[in-house]
Formats: sequence, C-alpha cells, structure tokens
Amino acid sequence: MKNKTGNAMHEMTIAVNIVDIAVQTAQKAQAQKINKITVEVGALSGVVPESLEFCFGEACKGTMAENAELELIRIPAKAQCMSCGFRFETNQFLNICPKCGAEALASGGQELQVKAINVD
Ligand SMILES: [Zn+2]
Repeated sequence: MKNKTGNAMHEMTIAVNIVDIAVQTAQKAQAQKINKITVEVGALSGVVPESLEFCFGEACKGTMAENAELELIRIPAKAQCMSCGFRFETNQFLNICPKCGAEALASGGQELQVKAINVD
C-alpha cells in the first residue's frame, strides 16, 4: 500500500484500499479506465463521507481510477429493543426504543466495501 502524503488519517487509508481493490478488479477485467466506484458505508463504520470523498480524489490520482466518481451508499444499522423486541433503523450504537423507552442496541452498520465498479 502506498502512502504518498504520510497522512495517517483513517479515511485516507480506507480511500487507498478502495482504489486498490477497484484497480485490481478493473485489471482482471482488462479495463482501461474506472469511471465510477460504488461503496457501501455502514452508519456505524466510523467513516465520515465528506472526508472519504476528499481522500478518494487524492487516492485516485495517477491511477486508472483518476477522476472516477465515488458513489457512497449509506447503510443504516438496525436496533432491536431488549424489552419489547421492537426493531428499527438507527445511526447510533446505543438507542432508546421509540415504543417503550427501554435500551436498544444496534447491530450491523459496520459495512465498508466496494460494491461495484463501472469501467471502460
Ligand atoms: Zn421497546
């Protein structure tokens, strides 16, 4: 893995990984250029989308993904109430059940993966 800037930012590491995966996939498909990369980002993955988009632009430079579009699909986490069993979507780990007011823990929402790439 390259780290051109020496920047230890979380999102930069992720962006470089995304570009690496996309380039490897595109090369296997004998593509010339990557137009678009679709990435699933879970609500509890800890990734800041704006930051990831900025880092993605930097990570693409000098690769076949240069100027590619980054499409982020936000995936909400799911919480289930420990008291009444009510299920709902959430963006945080600890939640209060909207039905009965008890604690509800979230699960899922940790997704961070390249879902699709569009190549020429
Ligand atoms: Zn409840």
